[in-house]
Amino acid sequence: MATRLSILGVTGSIGNSTVSVVESLGPGRFDVVAVTGHANIDGLASAARRLHADLAVTADPARLDALRQALSGTGIEAAAGPDALIEAASRPVDVVMSAIVGAAGLRPTLAAVRQGATIALANKETLVAAGALFLDEIARSGARLLPVDSEHNAIFQLVAHEKTPIERLLLTASGGPFRTWSVEQMAAASPKQAVAHPNWSMGARISIDSASMFNKALEMIEAGHLFGAGPDKIEVVVHPQSIIHSMVGYRDGSILAHLGPSDMRVAIGYALAWPERPDLPVERLDFADLARLDFEAPDITRFPALRLAREAMAAGGLTPCALNAAHEIALDAFIAGQIGFLDMASLVEATLSRLGAQPQAAMLDDVFDADQTARRVARELTVTMPAGN
Ligand code: NAD
Ligand code: MG
Repeated sequence: MATRLSILGVTGSIGNSTVSVVESLGPGRFDVVAVTGHANIDGLASAARRLHADLAVTADPARLDALRQALSGTGIEAAAGPDALIEAASRPVDVVMSAIVGAAGLRPTLAAVRQGATIALANKETLVAAGALFLDEIARSGARLLPVDSEHNAIFQLVAHEKTPIERLLLTASGGPFRTWSVEQMAAASPKQAVAHPNWSMGARISIDSASMFNKALEMIEAGHLFGAGPDKIEVVVHPQSIIHSMVGYRDGSILAHLGPSDMRVAIGYALAWPERPDLPVERLDFADLARLDFEAPDITRFPALRLAREAMAAGGLTPCALNAAHEIALDAFIAGQIGFLDMASLVEATLSRLGAQPQAAMLDDVFDADQTARRVARELTVTMPAGN
């Protein structure tokens, strides 16, 4: 029986790799129901055609005509707008790949959870923002959550057969393009420099987040929810080669590591084929060729995002949600040249301190409210920052 699959964010970096995995696993393995995108209508229509999807949805209502035209004669249904996105995520399937970027992925991912589908989760912002409430929704609907973020997918594989509790999680980080840069160089960094990731090919936003280590900050919070670990049990290890995708330490001193090529198709394939392991046409590691693996401690002074994540986890409640929202605004402002690279962390910190202690969310509306409030405060504070480059 084919696995029924929908892909939210099919036009992105994870979306493209998902299409590639589906195609390499061969015809008949997946029956693709819905695919969604946003501005890239050609990419959306082309993915829908290649995968023989039933439905293609763009989040942007103004692009419906363009999508209809791009799909004319194919019999593939076209729709647009936020409600259509929810409808796409709600169509009954076995697995939903959640690969929209940012908090925009939250409502569609929740819709996918509510239909009880297995969620292959790339959209880490959903877990960071909605945290325990998101996990409650999963428990209530009987949905299953499979992490696609490479670090979390690695840990998921490492804990799968262990019955003893973990002692610590070691999240690996490449250190990004500015790993060896001085504070002065980082202060003057442009979006173009920040987007140039040394090892992984990813969407622009997450690439810049790797340069600032905000990506790792979000991943610490994500790991806390996925594996029930507090900030004291989560360490970040800089590992420039990105060959070890993360590690788990046990109480006997053993450390298990997951190694593989820096290719998201491994994590995506694992989530799509779970509980089996698929055959994938990815590079095989050659250890003689690699010769060495390096490790170093992260520099919290140059990468304050890691400290902010730890503080947000300790503060709890809606603080991680506010951190995520403020960070999205800070990232927009950096990309737009309104603030400098290091101002992103300052803006997030200033927003969190302006907001003060954040209560626990009692319901999902509290999450959406906290998200909006933090965005508003961060936007207000942006104008007080010195201009970027
Ligand atoms: P991307 O920017 O390449 O693609 C984003 C996708 O989201 C696109 O399909 C786009 O159309 C869609 N989208 C954007 N704004 C939208 C909106 N407002 N409403 C609906 N859809 C919208 O991003 P990506 O790099 O593929 O990352 C996707 C998610 O996966 C992110 O949460 C990211 O943190 C996570 N992730 C990515 C990688 C990677 O290698 N790229 C690795 C780990 C985790
Ligand atoms: Mg990751």
